[in-house]
Amino acid sequence: MPATEKKPAKIACACGACELTLADGNATMHILCGCEDCRQALQWGYKNGGVKPDPLQRAFYMRSDIADVKGREKMLTVKLREDGVSRRVYCTNCYSVLGVDHPAYMSSVFLNFPRHCVNGGELSAPLSLMLFMQDYSEDIGPLPDDKVPVFQSLRFPQKIDRIMSIEAAANTWFKEPAAPAEGITFTALIESLGSPLVLNLEKGAKLL
Ligand SMILES: [Zn+2]
Ligand SMILES: [Zn+2]
Repeated sequence: MPATEKKPAKIACACGACELTLADGNATMHILCGCEDCRQALQWGYKNGGVKPDPLQRAFYMRSDIADVKGREKMLTVKLREDGVSRRVYCTNCYSVLGVDHPAYMSSVFLNFPRHCVNGGELSAPLSLMLFMQDYSEDIGPLPDDKVPVFQSLRFPQKIDRIMSIEAAANTWFKEPAAPAEGITFTALIESLGSPLVLNLEKGAKLL
């Protein structure tokens, strides 16, 4: 497969106060995430004025190379709990989510939900898989019938082997950046924003 050409793109919040210019706007992977933490974080954003989340979150991994940042003073990093490893960046005007960082992304990619911001990137990547579907059930929303691998959890090493045998996953997770960022990484952006706000939400508690 030929390497995709780099194409810059912007990710902005709904109100326009915050904007990231990505050096390469090609998404590396497209997933549906059923995890209770993504759901809870987006429910919290909705309660603060953001968009109401779908039951199941459609998400894209974007390259963590940010050429330009606007609106840093409106950006807030949030952790659901003190021991949480995911860090999410919200706009404090409109509660869009610009992205999520996690150690498994190795500052090579970050996670983005196009329904919860304005993602001008190349998002034509087909759905690769569904993740953490142990946290999702019919009383939350309809069961999706997309013909892609479904992972309940990644508790077993065998499951991690299986998920990492999917090409898009191997190109996205636990992977050092192919080249140093031209701009700053999403992790470096978060570090420039100061200490995260810790919400101390009860794990799995529904906010809606
Ligand atoms: Zn905003
Ligand atoms: Zn999730």
